[in-house]
Amino acid sequence: MSTKIDKILEAAQQHCEDVIKPNVDAWNDAGVWPRAASDMAGAAGLTGLYAPGEWGGQGLPLGEGIRVYEQLGKGDGAYAFALSMHNICTYATCGFGTEPFKEKWARQLTSGRKLANFALTEPQSGSDATTMYTRAVINGDGTWTINGAKAWVSLADEADIYLTVVKTSDKPGHQDMAMIAIPKDAEGVSFGPRYQTPSYNFLPLSEMYFKDVVVSEDNIILPIGQGLQGSLMAIDIARCSIASGCCGLIESALDTALAYASRRKMFGGVNLDLEGIQWMLGDVATDLEASRLLYRAAANALGTPDGSVMAAHAKSFVPDAAVRAANCCTQVLGGSGLLKEYGLDRLSRLSQMLRIVDGTTEINKVVIGRALQKRAKSLPQTTIPKGYGEE
Ligand SMILES: Cc1cc2nc3c(=O)[nH]c(=O)nc-3n(C[C@H](O)[C@H](O)[C@H](O)COP(=O)(O)OP(=O)(O)OC[C@H]3O[C@@H](n4cnc5c(N)ncnc54)[C@H](O)[C@@H]3O)c2cc1C
Repeated sequence: MSTKIDKILEAAQQHCEDVIKPNVDAWNDAGVWPRAASDMAGAAGLTGLYAPGEWGGQGLPLGEGIRVYEQLGKGDGAYAFALSMHNICTYATCGFGTEPFKEKWARQLTSGRKLANFALTEPQSGSDATTMYTRAVINGDGTWTINGAKAWVSLADEADIYLTVVKTSDKPGHQDMAMIAIPKDAEGVSFGPRYQTPSYNFLPLSEMYFKDVVVSEDNIILPIGQGLQGSLMAIDIARCSIASGCCGLIESALDTALAYASRRKMFGGVNLDLEGIQWMLGDVATDLEASRLLYRAAANALGTPDGSVMAAHAKSFVPDAAVRAANCCTQVLGGSGLLKEYGLDRLSRLSQMLRIVDGTTEINKVVIGRALQKRAKSLPQTTIPKGYGEE
């Protein structure tokens, strides 16, 4: 008997084969978000993965729903990434939004009729997320007024609502941070020029500006004091989702290389007969198996004390494995690997992008490093040579 997750994974696989793969190059040429495709993803149940059934969602546990991006990532990692962020925002809306906000937005988001994204990064604060200036003034009449600028906003000017992290005082640090949902059509919202990103040109990315934007307190998703901590929880989910999408990317690169190498004639046989080629692709296959196990374990750990560090392991390992896979598979095709029709150049650029977004490889190593320092403190003291440590 097939379970709900099996059906959703099948729907995601179908969406990838029918909608993403045949169209992704045309989407990139057009440079426009394929809204008809995301509408179809909504109709297939892929836009409310973790939201409860009462709001029209699939109600899947994170550990199951995150596997959807592995299917979508076989088609395109940027498309998978954008839908993963929408799903996280939809989950946050249903889990933490006020009743009036949920009444207005939850069903629209779970159905994919409206799209959501997350706005944390600012021009001066990427990895250093606490150096943030976007500022909300609490008006005392049930509204907040927001001024500031966000950077690297995905689905810029395309999503209908942006879960935006703001400061509520001039004090440094993150104790005053909150998250509030800002609709695209609120007066005073505008977007900067599109960033030029040819390998995922259909994903609109730009700065986003707030000039005296007045928003109801009904739109508060995370209250003052919880803005940063809640965002980091969302980012943990995003890290596992990106690692899942990267597994799809690795599989796609590997299959392209295998299909080619098993037909490319050379030295009286085919390319795949060469032991050196088998070793190269064998390493990609090993990375894929390890990456799958890792992201799934990390996704299952979300919400537990190990959730953040497991997400960091997945985000620091899997996108790097995807970069290696895309480069290695390009090499296996020789000159043909550079041709657009094989898509490997696109996968190289995408995998590099996935190393950066939602916490770079290095930032995730920082998270792992801190966990190791904590663990070191819990170990019994070891003897070290005289003069090497505190006496
Ligand atoms: C395609 C794309 C989509 C995005 N979408 C969104 C979005 O929708 N919403 C949003 O809020 N943000 C989004 N981002 C922003 C993204 O999360 C940031 O780009 C990311 O956090 C890195 O920040 P930065 O680009 O400012 O790099 P920086 O923080 O300037 O980092 C520069 C370099 O320094 C390294 N570094 C930083 N700190 C350390 C350290 N302690 N030790 C060692 N090295 C370090 C980094 O790893 C990196 O190599 C997106 C980014 C991309 C590329």
